Amino acid sequence: MVLRKDMKSHLEVCHFTMLKCPNNGCDASVLRKDMENHIATCPYTILTCPDHCDAKFQRRELEVHKEACPNHFIPCPAAPLGCDETTPRKDLLKHTSSCPIIKIHPHFKQLHGQVEILSHQLPLVERRVEKLEYVTAHRFEELMMLCKSLQEQVIDLTKKTNERFVEVNRRMDHMDERFMRMIKERETRFNNLHKNQAVIGSDLRTFLNEPSEYCVGNGTTETEGRIPAGWRLATKEETIEATKFGVTFNTATLVHSGCLANTHPNAICTSTYRYPGGGDFDFSNSCTASDQGNPNSLIKMESGSKKFLLIRIGKVGVAPPIM
Ligand SMILES: [Zn+2]
Ligand SMILES: [Zn+2]
Ligand SMILES: [Zn+2]
Ligand SMILES: [Zn+2]
Repeated sequence: MVLRKDMKSHLEVCHFTMLKCPNNGCDASVLRKDMENHIATCPYTILTCPDHCDAKFQRRELEVHKEACPNHFIPCPAAPLGCDETTPRKDLLKHTSSCPIIKIHPHFKQLHGQVEILSHQLPLVERRVEKLEYVTAHRFEELMMLCKSLQEQVIDLTKKTNERFVEVNRRMDHMDERFMRMIKERETRFNNLHKNQAVIGSDLRTFLNEPSEYCVGNGTTETEGRIPAGWRLATKEETIEATKFGVTFNTATLVHSGCLANTHPNAICTSTYRYPGGGDFDFSNSCTASDQGNPNSLIKMESGSKKFLLIRIGKVGVAPPIM
């Protein structure tokens, strides 16, 4: 058990704290109690040459170092022929120049010559390797910087692309909404027209950019029509106003509510062929209706040549009604 106030100092010595191996390049994490053992075998632990040549290197490079270490003991090249001598690498030349077995064997004589030449070339090669190492390290640094910059650019581009994607999606959603709304409006409009047509008869017409507020019933093919619920017959004033807009509906006369109430028996003329447009037609109309110009009223005509201008109830007409 450890008191909370002692926890910090405990963690600094606790055997079970996880520690990262301090060796450069090693990714291992081990318990504190195992660290000593790990360092003793870690391939990244820095060693000094066991042959005392003063070189320092990581444990994993030991075997490579032994292959070149001037102090490392190597057997005489004539060992297969019976020479038992082992000597530090740097002293090999000294030995081979006096090794009795090499002396008597022409093959090793030749080898000795090559070793001599190579040992002269070695410092030159070493210098070149050093130089190459330096250049490589430098280039590596440059490459890493380039990678980093590219990575940043890719991250930036990804971010920008994502932003654009979200924006485009948002706009498409918006357009979808508008499109759906438009379809719905068209549908409602069509349904309204269709409904009215079913009641009133054929050839419903619209005008004044308010197709759902006005329509006209055509009496040409039917002599009877019922005003649909929610609609009323236009007043004389409204009919005159509509005629001033130039509507004719292929007829000479429009019946209005005054005709049915018999207060203004003349229908309104829509053309200027014989009478001024919007003026009284000179024959009184002979329509009858079950409930004047009100909703659900059944209108009967002696012929199919007259038409009705209907207005949706609740909408302000073009002029106050005159019955
Ligand atoms: Zn502990
Ligand atoms: Zn390690
Ligand atoms: Zn060494
Ligand atoms: Zn020898």
